[in-house]
Parts: sequence; C-alpha cells; structure tokens
Amino acid sequence: MIATIYRGTREIGGTLIELSDGNTRLMLDAGYPLFLNGNPIDDRVAKLPPEELLKLGVLPSIDGLYLWDSPSFDGIVISHAHIDHYGLLNYAHPDIPVYLSRGTKTLIEVSQAFKICEPYAINSRLFNMYEPFAVEGFTVKPYLIDHSAFDAAAFEINAGGKTVIYSGDFRGHGRKSTCFDSFIKHATKQADVLFTEGSMVSRSDEQTVTEDELENRVVHELNGQTGIALVQSSSQNIDRIVSFYRAALRLGRTFVIDVYTANVLHELHALGNKIPYPSYDKMKVFFPHRLTQRIFNEIGAEYAKRFSPYRIPKEQLEAQQREIIMLARPSMQKDLERCNLSGGHFFYSMWQGYRDSVYQQSFEKWLSEKGFRNIFLHTSGHAKVSDIRRLIDGLNPKKIVPIHTLQPDAFLNYSDKVELKKDGIAFEV
Ligand SMILES: [Zn+2]
Ligand SMILES: [Zn+2]
Repeated sequence: MIATIYRGTREIGGTLIELSDGNTRLMLDAGYPLFLNGNPIDDRVAKLPPEELLKLGVLPSIDGLYLWDSPSFDGIVISHAHIDHYGLLNYAHPDIPVYLSRGTKTLIEVSQAFKICEPYAINSRLFNMYEPFAVEGFTVKPYLIDHSAFDAAAFEINAGGKTVIYSGDFRGHGRKSTCFDSFIKHATKQADVLFTEGSMVSRSDEQTVTEDELENRVVHELNGQTGIALVQSSSQNIDRIVSFYRAALRLGRTFVIDVYTANVLHELHALGNKIPYPSYDKMKVFFPHRLTQRIFNEIGAEYAKRFSPYRIPKEQLEAQQREIIMLARPSMQKDLERCNLSGGHFFYSMWQGYRDSVYQQSFEKWLSEKGFRNIFLHTSGHAKVSDIRRLIDGLNPKKIVPIHTLQPDAFLNYSDKVELKKDGIAFEV
C-alpha cells in the first residue's frame, strides 16, 4: 500500500491522506486549510476561483479528485464535521462516493442550510460505527471517538495484508472518553502505520480539564451570583452545550439557546441521539432578529416555526435575566442591547485563536462596559500529550506518522518508531 499526505505533515487542519494499492484509491478526509503561509486563512480566500486556489495551494495538486478532472478515486472517507476535514468536498468530483457517519452528514447539512458553508450535493454513503465497509479492495472500520465534533470517527483500514490506523482528531478528556479507551482496546495492535494527530503538542499551555470539571467550574463561578451568564461557544460542540446545560440545571437556571443552535440539536436529536433538546426542562429558544429574518427570507420558515412553543421573547429574557444562562455571539449584540442587561458573567468557551478579530473584540468591549465579568473557560477538543502517548503505547504500531500538528519533531521523543513525512511525497506503508 502507498500513502500520500497531501497536507498535514507540519500543519494543523486541511487534512488529506491518500491510500492506494494500485487498484483502489481512497482519500482520508478532504480538509480545507486553517492556515495559508502560516497565517490564519482569510474568509475571502474561499471565494476565489479554483485555478487561484490551486495556485495558492489551498487545493493541493491531486489528480483524479476534483470536479474538473475525470475521477480516479474510489471513495473519500470523512472523519468528522469540522471544515478542516471536509471543507474541500465541494471541489471533489460528484461521482466519487463520500463515506461519513449520520451525525457528520447531519452537521454538514445544517451548516449548508444556514449558509455557513457552501450548499453542494454530497454523494454520501453512510457508515455505522464499528461496522466495517468495503471500498473496492479496501476494508474500512470506523470507531466512534472522543472529539469536540459530534459523531467523530477514527478508522482502521485493511488492504492486501496491510493495516493502517488513522486517529482523526481525538481527545481522551471529553464526554466520550470511554470511546477513546475502547478504541485503544479494540483496534488492531501492531498496525503497519498509525497516523496520529498532534494539535496539542504545540499548544501545551492550553487547558485540558474534563467536560465534567468544566461544568463544575461554571457552577462554582455562578453559585450565589445574580446576573445573567452569557456563553460563547460553538453551536456544534455538543459536549460543551451539554456541560453548560447541566450546569444550568444544577443552578436552577434556564438555559437559553439561539434558534440556530436549536436546529443543530433538533437534527441530531431526530437521529435518535440522547442530547438536550428544546422541549427539555429549563430550555428555551431565543430568536435573534437578524437570524430570524434570514430564516424566513432565505433559509426556510420551518427552521424557526418548529421552535415556536419554546420561544423566549426578549421581554421575558429581560425580566428573568438573573436566572438565565444563555448562548451568545457577537452577531447578537443588537438583540442583547435591547434586553437591558444589567451586567453578569461572560464565558468565552472556544479556542483563544479565534478571539483576535475586530468584531469579537468590540463585542467583548461592549460587554465589559456593561459590567460583565469576562471568564475564559474552555477545554481542548484535541488530545493532550499523555493521551497521544497512551494511544501509541496501547496500539504499539510498527510505524507512527504524525499529522495535524505544528511540531511533528516532538513525536520523536514519544517513540523510536516515529517517521516524519513531507506533504505530497508518497511512501510505502
Ligand atoms: Zn482538525
Ligand atoms: Zn476536529
């Protein structure tokens, strides 16, 4: 088997790994990059024509993958619904089947419906966790893994007597940490290659408390406090939403989510997942003015109407602000201004790297002028070094290739089986 990492040997995000055995070509993830020439990629870049994107390297040069080529890939396997793992799908040839979990497909569809990413058809084939499926001569077994994206997978791929394991993005300190333990226990030992992510190797100062500890911190901070608590977090980070919802229940507060987040929970709930849902006790849905207008004018009225029974109007929000924990983001500032909030707590619960934009800064400045106490409370979606070591020791692969990391060299300290690769250079598995 031959492997080619098109992007990720010295970079976080934009993962693309090809496996081929001469007959079958399989792509693991089709990620849009988070960085361009070492700097966070500008939103405007995505609007450039494909020929420009090829020149810039946003689209790596890969034959038989893109929609303007004749397709020669037999499948693309997507690990999870983060743009740095699926964001190139809109450039992939529509004849190439895309294998993904139900949760991943649903999250991508919600992003498309709300125009967070481009709407494009996905030639999807759904897989079930732990059930191997065939892609021509390859057998792929997905494992549910602990990550900040819901329904994320790691994979074991077998072909021609060789075994490759791809961790995807993972962690061992989230609400699905037992999935990480189970993956180590059940995945094939002594695989020929383990591709493992290493985002945290260069972010060792980042907090890695568990989601339970984070929930306790929220309760601790708000116990006996009387103002509203605003939370800025990703609407698709279900683990985090659960943490704040549970904290709200413990504090006897109502948890208010915006109508977009309500749709994310609604769609995942409809798949049979046991996650908080707007009809649950102490959960209400807020309709930000601009977003609600967009839903009625562009997205589809049903995305708003389905939550009418759970709506909290701004008058009620204002009157009950002392008993509320509420998801908020900069685009909701005007709505919050109309609610006459008299201070409280603001929890920033995302990666600090997203925090520098002028937009974000002006939102936080406004909050501070309103007397809000600003608290950074986050835990990474990625594995701390001790968990990367646990994966390596537990699986004991013949070869370890770091990906999705800024510091592959650091892996040389973790094992003598580490091999560093270069983007775009094929190697024998
Ligand atoms: Zn990633
Ligand atoms: Zn991810």
